[in-house]
Amino acid sequence: MAEMTKYDVLKKYFGYDTFREGQEMLTDALLSGRDVLGIMPTGAGKSLCYQVPALLMPGITLVVSPLISLMKDQVSALNQAGIHAAYLNSSLTPGQYTKALDNMVRGIYKIVYVAPERLMTDRFLQAVRGIGVSMVSVDEAHCISQWGQDFRPSYVRISDFIHQLGQRPVVGAFTATATKEVREDILALLELKDPVILTTGFDRKNLRFEVERPRDKMKAVMDYVAAHRQDCGIIYCITRKLVEEVCARLIREGYNATRYHAGLSDEERKKNQDDFIYDRCRIMVATNAFGMGIDKSDVRYVIHYNMPKNIESYYQEAGRAGRDGLPSECILYYSGQDVVTNQFFIDQMNGTEQMDEPTRELIRERERERLKKMTFYCLTNECLRDYILRYFGEYGPNYCGNCSNCLTQFEEKDVTETARCLIGCVRESPRAYGMTMIADTVRGSKNAKITRCHMDENPYYNTCGDIPIYQLRQILNHLVLNGFLFLTEDAYPVVGLTKKAQDVLDGSIPVIMKAAKERPKASGAASTDRKKSTVKAADGPVDDVLFEKLRTLRMDIARKEKIPPYIVFSDKTLVHMCLLRPSDKEEMLKVSGVGEMKFKKYGDVFLQAIKGYHLQSEP
Ligand code: ADP
Ligand code: ZN
Repeated sequence: MAEMTKYDVLKKYFGYDTFREGQEMLTDALLSGRDVLGIMPTGAGKSLCYQVPALLMPGITLVVSPLISLMKDQVSALNQAGIHAAYLNSSLTPGQYTKALDNMVRGIYKIVYVAPERLMTDRFLQAVRGIGVSMVSVDEAHCISQWGQDFRPSYVRISDFIHQLGQRPVVGAFTATATKEVREDILALLELKDPVILTTGFDRKNLRFEVERPRDKMKAVMDYVAAHRQDCGIIYCITRKLVEEVCARLIREGYNATRYHAGLSDEERKKNQDDFIYDRCRIMVATNAFGMGIDKSDVRYVIHYNMPKNIESYYQEAGRAGRDGLPSECILYYSGQDVVTNQFFIDQMNGTEQMDEPTRELIRERERERLKKMTFYCLTNECLRDYILRYFGEYGPNYCGNCSNCLTQFEEKDVTETARCLIGCVRESPRAYGMTMIADTVRGSKNAKITRCHMDENPYYNTCGDIPIYQLRQILNHLVLNGFLFLTEDAYPVVGLTKKAQDVLDGSIPVIMKAAKERPKASGAASTDRKKSTVKAADGPVDDVLFEKLRTLRMDIARKEKIPPYIVFSDKTLVHMCLLRPSDKEEMLKVSGVGEMKFKKYGDVFLQAIKGYHLQSEP
């Protein structure tokens, strides 16, 4: 292998012609002996950054990884590509563990994935001292930090482990978590030496973000899946009960759906998860318990049946769509009730037992603040991608052209008159109330709460009787989002006035609101191409029939070999095949994702399938 270059490795084993943004720089750094820290969003291709150099280095590469499922997936993908790799974790029987360890010492593997708990065991240390370790790569490196959500104490001992090795290997660390505290922890606790640090943007251009407010969420889901029958997708619900309802309905309507939540037995969870990964079920309905370590690359949509509790969770869950880089959709169905449910969860939060009450309240307050930002995401008329990126401290595009707001035509409406009534009503109230009370007052509602609080004596009572309640809410939200009013941080937020509010009452500034022009009736407002499946490629339309044919072939192979279909070939590779329609080996190797080894295994059958299709469609 000595004469191979990194490009040869990329092509031969992984079937790719070019590195992606950042990959080459990190590969080069590792090959030149420099430590690296790579901060890249999910799906950016972190693993390649250490797998390519691993094959070019003289000794073996140890990859520390926290999740058993992730290790298994990575190792089977490597073996598929013709690279000798193995994993060492608690899922192996003692016999299997011994065998794998022996093989490692005998130099059979180029890459070994290992659970952090194993590193400092006598057996592992002894085994590893006898062989040359060229590189230690730390996957999900944020697990080393107590600031992160996935703290793993055994990660802290990785640097001890590295000290135990005779010669210090080059060290690479990779994560998708970008906060400053976590980054500093990684640098310090892993003792990285003069590392090359690379952060690639968090933007996932192939994801389309949408927020909808369907009156009937169940119907919206049914419409969506009916228009995307061929696609794999995840539907996240906020409660187990909803998961059960949505899943049952899908099954009743004849869909291949399955479910996942903490109320199911371990056994059933595992089975359902596998059904989804192996494409036996196309739709997964789940609570947020589902997804850690799910590497499935061809998830075409992620629907949130409810608004999640914060943007971090949302972006992580929605980000499970489109890891292969193909166009995919992230859709959130918002309703006011979601805010109430999340608030309830926050109130119920107890943290860990050792926490004292002030700390607990502090945490609750932070959660409320984050929930508010999540809610604003659902209400804003600005670019959704921009909103998310700014939340993570990046400069967004302002206009991305690929979110429901950028794709909706808005018109500007002067709502100064109504805004004045709302603001006036707040000012004239004897005490502070929530949004609903204010809206009900200007609408002239006669409900019991209004009379009990004497709001019917407010000078602005019934000044907007002709404006529908949902519009009043929109305007109130607009006033909050734009700093005319503010909401308190309490469990039941009340509305207060800011300085800017006075200017509206004085008549010195108008209130202009962007409002969507009449939307088409269907629930899917943003995209006009709803009726088709989502398989589109950048360079042209894809023949759906051929694509399905290749997909079926892939499924057959996967079943026979008992591996997930996307490990045979990704959707992206199949799409590329449909576009190029290769007729011989040389052409087939030009398809992105087809390397030498994959060609040897599957090249011929896929060539046959494409040829057969030609004959059939061009008599
Ligand atoms: P991460 O670990 O950063 O979430 P992965 O390493 O799982 O991402 O890679 C995501 C997907 O991108 C995989 O399907 C992988 O095969 C693909 N990929 C990685 N690098 C490239 C590349 N240079 N060209 C094309 N596809 C790539
Ligand atoms: Zn946008």
